[in-house]
Amino acid sequence: MRLFFGFLFTFAAMTASAADQITAIHAHRLLDVRSGSVSDAYIVVRGERIESIAKSAPAGAKVIDLGDATVLPGLIDCHVHLVTDWTDFTATSFLRQSSPQKTLFGLLNSWAYLDRGFTTLRDAGEGDPAYGQVALRDAFNKGMFRGPRLFVAGFPLSVTGGHADVNPLAPDVAMPVYSNIADTVGETQKAVRHDVRNGVDWIKLMATGGVTDPLSDFNVQELSDEQMRAAVETGHRAGKKIMAHAEGTAGIKAAVRAGVDTIEHGTVLDEEGAKLMAERGTWLVPTLETFQRGVEIGLQQGQDQITLDKGKAILKYQQTAFDWAMKYHVKIAFGLDDEPKYVAREFEALVKAGLTPLQSIQAATINAASLLDQSANIGSLEAGRYADVVAVDGDPLKDIKAMAKVVFVMKGGEVVVKGR
Ligand SMILES: [Zn+2]
Repeated sequence: MRLFFGFLFTFAAMTASAADQITAIHAHRLLDVRSGSVSDAYIVVRGERIESIAKSAPAGAKVIDLGDATVLPGLIDCHVHLVTDWTDFTATSFLRQSSPQKTLFGLLNSWAYLDRGFTTLRDAGEGDPAYGQVALRDAFNKGMFRGPRLFVAGFPLSVTGGHADVNPLAPDVAMPVYSNIADTVGETQKAVRHDVRNGVDWIKLMATGGVTDPLSDFNVQELSDEQMRAAVETGHRAGKKIMAHAEGTAGIKAAVRAGVDTIEHGTVLDEEGAKLMAERGTWLVPTLETFQRGVEIGLQQGQDQITLDKGKAILKYQQTAFDWAMKYHVKIAFGLDDEPKYVAREFEALVKAGLTPLQSIQAATINAASLLDQSANIGSLEAGRYADVVAVDGDPLKDIKAMAKVVFVMKGGEVVVKGR
């Protein structure tokens, strides 16, 4: 008993001193991501949160001077796949790795994001029946490893032969049927509940076919209207949000009408779909870069001809779809859906497609925080938010390529990257 109280006392004393530690980050160029204005200020950090934005450092504070770097809130990517080997584009990549191997890839991919200024990620679903992404989220939250804040989807719900049917084998080669395969309303509800039981934050639906599999057609709606309504109802009732991979026009509209919270890719979005999304407040995560690079890599890294051909065909629709989204002011959030080392290229792609540099940064900060229902915690540098702070060399409002030059990262009050 005495030992037990001794431990408690020591632990309380340690947390008290950590909470009293005040750090003042001198940002000579602090970017307000809401307005685009830049000012000279101190971000006062106590423990893991921002205490205030001040004109001077409080007495006794440890000062970190970031010089002329542009200082931003920690960045947020809303469409990542962490427990994935991004150098392997073969159709059997999911099947040739054990869950431990996938999870270790997840650790490396998480660090690659954190080093690039991304302090929060939404995992958009994984082909891992053991839910490595949930294990990673929990390990990071417990402080077992450094890592970004994670919000994770489970095993994407798919019809048999659909975009997330990971079985590309011959019909007479046996493979387990995974929990995500759902061809009826009942199977859909059960698959949602399976994800919920295994600790997901989001439910991922494959509303249409996609590009990166040998079986599906991206123009075709896969889950039925009834299945998607059932998934939304079951997921929302459990307090989970719903994201839908949707590329073809019919599937996008069906998913929006079913009440999903976010549309992923939306690559063949038409005018009616954009109007519908704007009316309902459905988010779009356009993931532009991954479609562009998918065509660039050609047949390298195991990508096969079917996937490459689909990639070339769908890319023709991308700009038109994005134009409709902008015209109707659809809410847009940032998502890469590619190997993390390319993440800054998504900012460039968004600007090339028509957003201002500030809008592209908003997509990865205030917008992404709102999509995650986390605006009170992340996405802006304001009192009360987590001290997730990033600095980049140069002025990203003048040249968005500066987003690739990350020189400082703090997550929850802890310095993760200090490059100057
Ligand atoms: Zn994806």
